[in-house]
Amino acid sequence: MSIALPILRPDSADVGQTPPPAPGQARGPGRLIDSHGRTIRDLRLSVTDRCNYRCVYCMDPDFRYMPKRELLSLEEYLTIARVVASLGIRKLRITGGEPTLYQRLDELIAGVGAMGFDDIAMTTNGSLLDRMPLERWRRDGLDRLTLSLDSMRAQRVAEITRTAATPQTVIDAIGLGKAAGFHPIKVNVVVMRGVNDDELADFADFAREHAVELRLIEFMPLDSSKAWSRETVVTADEMLAAIGRRYELVPVESCDPASTSLNFRFADGAPGRIGIIASVSRPFCGACSRLRITADGKVRPCLFSHEEWDVRALLRDGAADEEIRDFLVDSMWTKQAGHGIGSADFTAPARTMSAIGG
Ligand code: SAM
Ligand code: SF4
Repeated sequence: MSIALPILRPDSADVGQTPPPAPGQARGPGRLIDSHGRTIRDLRLSVTDRCNYRCVYCMDPDFRYMPKRELLSLEEYLTIARVVASLGIRKLRITGGEPTLYQRLDELIAGVGAMGFDDIAMTTNGSLLDRMPLERWRRDGLDRLTLSLDSMRAQRVAEITRTAATPQTVIDAIGLGKAAGFHPIKVNVVVMRGVNDDELADFADFAREHAVELRLIEFMPLDSSKAWSRETVVTADEMLAAIGRRYELVPVESCDPASTSLNFRFADGAPGRIGIIASVSRPFCGACSRLRITADGKVRPCLFSHEEWDVRALLRDGAADEEIRDFLVDSMWTKQAGHGIGSADFTAPARTMSAIGG
């Protein structure tokens, strides 16, 4: 079967990149490596582009979903997971859109849970966790939960998510997750200037009070409203300064060299941790070990890729695992050196965060 390779359109991040190999030529050691010497060990698998929220930094109210027929089937997700496991991927994160809206999530978790990954996590807004079989998921192999909460104030959460959600929604979800044995629980916060940056020290209070790992994320240019600008980004330095006025933080070395966050504990020994994901002000592309596959089966070597590789076509053509493996190896070879947000000619990808999988 012959597969048309996408043409790479060089952008600033690609300058100096080794040209992509001809089909078949990057197939080497049976693992995923790129032309910059990085080994890919981490898959973010999006299982839906649908969501019951419309967060201002992610999805517009009138955001158009992909047609259902374009989304992968359970069997197709499981085939991808099986193939990437055979290529040395050790970590899997299930995401979306809102993954708890995916109807066959239980079967997906049970399926990937039996594939021998070291770590399986899921990112969710937490709103539906009270109707999810959390204990079963834990038994079936889901190791960790990451929740999202962008303000400690009810009115603000409602404005940011454009729903009736409140901080209590996530506090309840934390309790349910802990009771089901998920540890640690992480809570993502997207920090935006003029929206929630006056709450940074309160977020630290929340981490201490609920003994969670708080992940403060710099706003990235992946919102469907295109409201992102450099001025809207609250940098890691600014976040640390704001929290530092209330609490002394001590840096913590991550045991994962590909960790995307700058990690801190509280100097007074209080529970909870702070992690800062400084994708914009301190990119960590050199240590990136990630591959993303969208709910409609597009392989994205980078969040900010302008080119995608269509693995769905292969899957629907009845390709053998071997062909899918070769296709993934070739596609990861093209991973760009960096996202290039810092360069003057940076352009955001057409796909927004909810359609990629965060
Ligand atoms: N719906 C789930 C949730 O919100 O947790 C999972 C998918 S969501 C796309 C994954 C993560 O991406 C969330 O923590 C969200 O806050 C983050 N995110 C979405 N848009 C973002 C943006 N423009 N910049 C930075 N992070 C973003
Ligand atoms: Fe939905 Fe998550 Fe995007 Fe918010 S960040 S709109 S919860 S996908």
